[in-house]
Amino acid sequence: MTSHSSAVLDAVSLKYPEIRHYIGGRFVAGGTRHLDVHNPADGSILSRVPLGDASVVDHAVKTARQAHAGWAATPIKERVQVFFRYKTLLERHIKDLAALITEEHGKLAGEAEAEILKAIELTEFACSLPQLAVGEVLEVSRGVECRVERHPLGVVASINPFNFPSMVPHWSIPNAIALGNCFIMKPSETVPLSAGRIAELLTEAGLPPGVFNVVHGDREVAEALCDHPGIEAITFVGSTRVAKEVYRRATSNLKRALCLGGAKNHVIVMPDADPEMAAGGVLAAMSGCTGQRCMAASVMVAVSTTDHIVDRLAAQARLMKVGKDVGPVITRQARERIEKYITEAEQGGARVLVDGRGATVPGKEGGWYVGPTVIDGVSPEMRIAQEEVFGPVLAIVRTRNLDEAIEVENASPYGNAAAIFTESGGAARSAMERASAGMVGVNVGVPVPREPFGFGGWNDSRFGVGDITGRDSLGFWTKNKKITTKWNREAGTNWMSK
Ligand code: NAD
Repeated sequence: MTSHSSAVLDAVSLKYPEIRHYIGGRFVAGGTRHLDVHNPADGSILSRVPLGDASVVDHAVKTARQAHAGWAATPIKERVQVFFRYKTLLERHIKDLAALITEEHGKLAGEAEAEILKAIELTEFACSLPQLAVGEVLEVSRGVECRVERHPLGVVASINPFNFPSMVPHWSIPNAIALGNCFIMKPSETVPLSAGRIAELLTEAGLPPGVFNVVHGDREVAEALCDHPGIEAITFVGSTRVAKEVYRRATSNLKRALCLGGAKNHVIVMPDADPEMAAGGVLAAMSGCTGQRCMAASVMVAVSTTDHIVDRLAAQARLMKVGKDVGPVITRQARERIEKYITEAEQGGARVLVDGRGATVPGKEGGWYVGPTVIDGVSPEMRIAQEEVFGPVLAIVRTRNLDEAIEVENASPYGNAAAIFTESGGAARSAMERASAGMVGVNVGVPVPREPFGFGGWNDSRFGVGDITGRDSLGFWTKNKKITTKWNREAGTNWMSK
């Protein structure tokens, strides 16, 4: 049997047929390398994804450029009609879209549905863009008018992480396209299935061919997108190491870039915090999405006498069922990495109050699970207190007062989110002011701003200007044209209108 026919046999036995790129309104093959797509819940192989290359990117860019003139010339009020219809399709298909996310990513059904609900909210915002994209006009001298118009950039791209196969791409897709750009999405090669459904539903909603395209792949495709002269702007969401590389590469090729990176989010718990709200809030923030979200609570800074809250949190964590209350992590390697962090902290003198190492789910022994883990007595110098773990692991650092707690938070190079649990308005105000993070919560463990407020961190969690969603996206996805006109010949003239 040749290797070719064995590949065909393998493809036939897969639950989902081999994945294809989506270019010019059609699913197309391309690229010589492939990768297996796994279901992290049981380790089974679901499909195979092609890893594209520079020639696939070039095909997508040329196709998108051809579509651009027509799309840019379509008035925005007509463009957003596609997104009104798309929103209805997302609502209609929420169950099957969520089920697909659960299969390729492993997250629980409720978490996957919440992801689609967020995609719907992001689409809703794009539907409101005509109200926000209104230009400006002023009579600047007698009979002389200046007007400002927003114009699309052209062909733009987004490079996406594994942890939200649908929500994170929707941070960019609806706004960029509604504002008149043509789009190339590079999904994470680990979770490539949802992208095809996004393409199908956008097409069903009436988006013309070539306006939205998907190129699958890994680093090679990401780099080709950064290098291609036909692409005007790139959004990236992923780890800080890669965010920096992509930002440097895209901007050195004179593109607009906004690159969101990793995180290490601190939750300060004051002794006066409502015990139920604090314990439940911190636990949900650390274990939700199996801790695989850039907004996850990763360090709890327990101020002064907070044992009663720590005990309650640990007791609740022990009751959580792996596979039911917390899903798997994305790969075997991720599980090994997370368990190594826990073991290293333990060896360094920290106390593992709740231990999620070696977790298994009956009937799904091939899955990659780590149970909720709570580690007390972590010192700020430990790796587990400083680096992004990206698993359901909470490191508890003890401090004597709020000032020390803020110092711990401020020392992190990241700056995505921070939160405080307290009943004191003064402590809350102080934390809001002094936290070095782009998104701050008071008695809210995962302070994701909802639309129309923009999403974006500070420091090493974001490279580039502005937030990725909300009003800032208007500035990112468009360029302003300033037009000065004079039609009234009788108008007075002055120094600038001659
Ligand atoms: P990752 O950085 O490994 O990969 C992200 C994307 O970059 C993928 O599409 C991948 O194919 C591509 N890529 C990988 N190496 C590359 C390279 N050297 N050059 C160019 N492209 C490359 O991230 P991940 O593991 O998929 O996602 C998890 C990370 O994403 C975490 O660090 C998490 O905090 C972060 N994240 C951040 C936010 C945020 O809003 N700040 C949101 C979600 C996830």
